[in-house]
Amino acid sequence: MDDMTNFGNTAEARDIRHHFHGYTNARRHMDVGPMIIEDGEGIYVTDTSGKRYIEGLAGLWSVGVGFKERRLIEAATRQLEKLPFYHNFGHKSHGPAIDLAEKLVGIAPVPMSKVFYTNSGSEANDTVLKMVWYRSNALGKPEKKKVIARTRGYHGVTIAAASLTGLPYNHRSFDLPLDRVLHTTCPHYWKEGRDGESEEQFATRCAEDLEALIQREGPDTVAAFWAEPVMGAGGVVVPPKGYFDKIQAVLAKYDILFVADEVICGFGRTGEMFGSTTYGIRPDVMVMSKQITSSYVPFSAILMNERFFAPIADESDRISTFGHGYTAGGHPLGAAVALENLAIIQENDLVGNAREVGAHFRARLETLKSSPLVGEVRGVGLIAAVELVEDKQAKSVTTPGRLGTMMNAAMHRNGLISRNMTDTVAFCPPMIITRQQADDMFEIVAKSLAELE
Ligand code: PLP
Repeated sequence: MDDMTNFGNTAEARDIRHHFHGYTNARRHMDVGPMIIEDGEGIYVTDTSGKRYIEGLAGLWSVGVGFKERRLIEAATRQLEKLPFYHNFGHKSHGPAIDLAEKLVGIAPVPMSKVFYTNSGSEANDTVLKMVWYRSNALGKPEKKKVIARTRGYHGVTIAAASLTGLPYNHRSFDLPLDRVLHTTCPHYWKEGRDGESEEQFATRCAEDLEALIQREGPDTVAAFWAEPVMGAGGVVVPPKGYFDKIQAVLAKYDILFVADEVICGFGRTGEMFGSTTYGIRPDVMVMSKQITSSYVPFSAILMNERFFAPIADESDRISTFGHGYTAGGHPLGAAVALENLAIIQENDLVGNAREVGAHFRARLETLKSSPLVGEVRGVGLIAAVELVEDKQAKSVTTPGRLGTMMNAAMHRNGLISRNMTDTVAFCPPMIITRQQADDMFEIVAKSLAELE
């Protein structure tokens, strides 16, 4: 409590007193206190002391069109004034949900059939897993219920989504993962590749690992495979050359569905509208959130093909209803904002901007490889990461997270908010970022790194 008195009765003290933060050391927060952001404009946010930062992670890989975008504010206001809420249970519907479903099917990279609405990335993945099970029962294959995700993959935090996630903090002390959820090799060539193994050979080994796991578990028991086109929260892992082709060949052999988690990659981040396009993925199901509304409103959507949908529809007919749905699923406010957000992305070619400014920013990051502390620079489109190491040869650190935390703190001091995952420092700025702003961001990264050397 001493530390709290240091903050008096400020917003910081009140935050410590009553606000339990996600993804935070809950005890340490009482000593450290919050960083309170009170304003945002374009790619910048400002804290309560008036200090301005570049939001180098677009919030949480989220705010594609930037902060305070008038068109989104106006679209939200128009919708609130007309119909602030309605649902989609029992055959009810409303215009924004219909328009958005049509729009999503229209821009999908492969033929898709239906959209189911949820409220967060976690809920969407959780829902897809339930649908996978429901579908297997519908097909008279009750044994086909196991699913395979990847070590270091991130799919959220509900019981099912956290099980799909392949990161230790999401399992430890939560009694997870569920035993129907398995994990296969993380496709991070720099880290997992063996001496003398080419990128292509490594991709082959990843596919062989997947096939071996399917064989061990029994091919008739595996229903679906889950992957982010580019792993985000697991450390911005860009797949090795040929990886998804090889993986999809294995899935096709055993009649296993592909669920593409596009929660970060979707809507332009990789320099194409979807990460699935960038990597030639032909998903049966796509999970979308975050940048779908630029996170102005909590919202998520599941896009599925007819092969996935049809057995589920048949089963709902047989047992009289599909017993799943969310009060706020397809919320008119979220759907209206999503439609306007997608219009902004398309009209202003933010996908092209992500490709061009992203390439420029990554080329500048590449120059940091001469630093003794930089092991790898990786990325695609406007998502990138710098991997910090103490021993470049051994690709190792003695205290995991030390360098990453120091780098993050230095960038904060120098006016850039980003995020370190252990010793990976990630960059994922709003997609409206200009070349000049990307240069400003790079200068802060370079300066902060120099302070660590
Ligand atoms: N899937 C991916 C790829 C994500 O990056 C995230 C969140 O970062 C989620 C799912 C979970 O989304 P939410 O935090 O909205 O539940």
